Amino acid sequence: MATIKPIEGRSVHQIQSGQVIVDLCSVAKELVENSVDAGSTSIEVRFKNNGLDLIEVQDNGSGIAPDDFETIALKHYTSKLSTYDDLTSLQTFGFRGEALSSLCALSKFYIVTARAADGPKGTKLDFETSGKLKGTSVVASKQGTTVVVESLFYNLPVRRKELEKSIKREYGKVLALLHAYACISTGVKFSVSNQMPKGKKTIAFSTNSNPNTKENIANVYGAKTLLMLIPLNLKFEMDANNRLGSTGNARNWSTQEDPGSREVKILGHISRPVIGEGRQTPDRQMFFVNSRPCALPQVAKAFNEVYRSYNITQSPFIFADIKLDTNAYDVNVSPDKRTILLHDQTTLLESLKSALVELFEAHDQSVPQAQL
Ligand code: ADP
Ligand code: MG
Repeated sequence: MATIKPIEGRSVHQIQSGQVIVDLCSVAKELVENSVDAGSTSIEVRFKNNGLDLIEVQDNGSGIAPDDFETIALKHYTSKLSTYDDLTSLQTFGFRGEALSSLCALSKFYIVTARAADGPKGTKLDFETSGKLKGTSVVASKQGTTVVVESLFYNLPVRRKELEKSIKREYGKVLALLHAYACISTGVKFSVSNQMPKGKKTIAFSTNSNPNTKENIANVYGAKTLLMLIPLNLKFEMDANNRLGSTGNARNWSTQEDPGSREVKILGHISRPVIGEGRQTPDRQMFFVNSRPCALPQVAKAFNEVYRSYNITQSPFIFADIKLDTNAYDVNVSPDKRTILLHDQTTLLESLKSALVELFEAHDQSVPQAQL
């Protein structure tokens, strides 16, 4: 008798969903990204019991059209990508149509949505664990979409236990991630709150629809943080083969005829390398590629190494957005899209390090020698 058999469909869905939604951070990340992709200017993230009981993201974006109700949570249904080639010109966070379908498989999940055209009425959408639409009902709702995730991993006992055990740490991690989204999203008002059982609701942090990242950082980390920051404005050139060429900073950067595809910029803010002004908190380090928050361990290492050669006792605050041609990296590396493959990373790191040394040298003048 043959021993090799296909895995039953529902189990395949559960197995794959568990790779897209691995923890609390993946839930918040996927939902906030969907809200940003929907053109929202206000995003509210609500946790109950640090996220163990509920994670809810409410936005004032486009809402969902009735024609899309049936397919919205089906696997690989997306409004953002239709062919593989579209990946290189991607302007949205999402592209695989996996988040909502995965959440159906791993939580008690529903959506409330309303479009401006439909007046004050909205629709509540309920789903099967497969992502199939189970039913709809009319509810009162403002324009936008609220996605509700209750009892995450309720049907995966081992993961649920793990989540319960580590929930305080997980909640800390999710706040750090949401800080990054709130800081990079200009023109979007963010509010994040947590309600403990029997406790009162506390606002974790909020931003006011600011026109620039500096004001977002002031809202999230306090206005004092700005006093220790200097602007990051590093630029490198790429040669015709898309390899990074000689390094340079803003001063010796010459404009190209076709700057869109040839330049790499690293924009943002970093602590001055002055002893006493850095912070001992590496979770205040945020990295982005074309405004997409992502984990860039090698880039982080390069920043920290150079900073430590000026200030050995502390870690810097870093907010660094790498602006690259969309052909020069790949976001489709891991199911949670946090890992990004940068082509020619070694050259980028070398250029980054020498540009940082130049930047710090220029800002190091006022530091008394005794402190170094
Ligand atoms: P993806 O983001 O990769 O397309 P998702 O499963 O996250 O996949 O979402 C599926 C689709 O549902 C999206 O393509 C989008 O059209 C719609 N959608 C999800 N969240 C929202 C939202 N907050 N507002 C409007 N539409 C949404
Ligand atoms: Mg998405």
